[in-house]
Amino acid sequence: MNRAFIAVDFVNDFVDGALGSSNAREAAERALDFLSKIQQTEKIIFTLDTHPSGDKEFKLWGEHCLEGTPGSELWNGMNAIQGKRVRKGNYDAFFGTPLEQYLKDMQAQTLYIFGISTDICVSSTVSGAFYRNFEIIVLEDLCASLRKEDHYTALSSMSRLYGARIMNSKEVK
Ligand SMILES: [Zn+2]
Repeated sequence: MNRAFIAVDFVNDFVDGALGSSNAREAAERALDFLSKIQQTEKIIFTLDTHPSGDKEFKLWGEHCLEGTPGSELWNGMNAIQGKRVRKGNYDAFFGTPLEQYLKDMQAQTLYIFGISTDICVSSTVSGAFYRNFEIIVLEDLCASLRKEDHYTALSSMSRLYGARIMNSKEVK
C-alpha cells in the first residue's frame, strides 16, 4: 500500500495568526509531534492556503493567508519537517494545484489527510480525493475547527459522504 500524508493548511494565520484558535494550536502541536516521527520514512505534503489581495474569500473570512506575508507560510513550528509544499487558493487542495500529479508521481493510493479546518479545507480536500479515487483516512486528532461542533459534524460527513476512515494518529502503523 503506497501512501502519502497530506497536512492541510498548517499556516501561521490558521494556527496563531488572523484566524488562529487554541483548537488549531493544539492540533498543530500534535501534528508536529506525529510528523517529526514519520518524516524519515513517509511521503509528506503540506498545503498552504495563499490568496492574492482582494480575494473573494476575504468577504467571508476577512483577510488571511495573503501571498508574500508570513500568514501564508507554514507554521514556524513545522518549518524543519521535510515534505513538499503546495500553495492553494481554494478550499480543495486539488483545485488548480499540482497536488494530483505529485501523488501520481509518488504512486500514492491511500491518503492520510488532516489539518485546519476540519469542516472547510480538510473536508473539501477529502471530497477532491474521493472523486480522484484515492482511499482516504482522516486523522481526527490532528484536525481542528474554530467551533468544536463543526469539527465533529465534519468528521461524520466525511465518513458518510466520501467513505473516509476516521482514525487517531496513534493508530497509524
Ligand atoms: Zn483561504
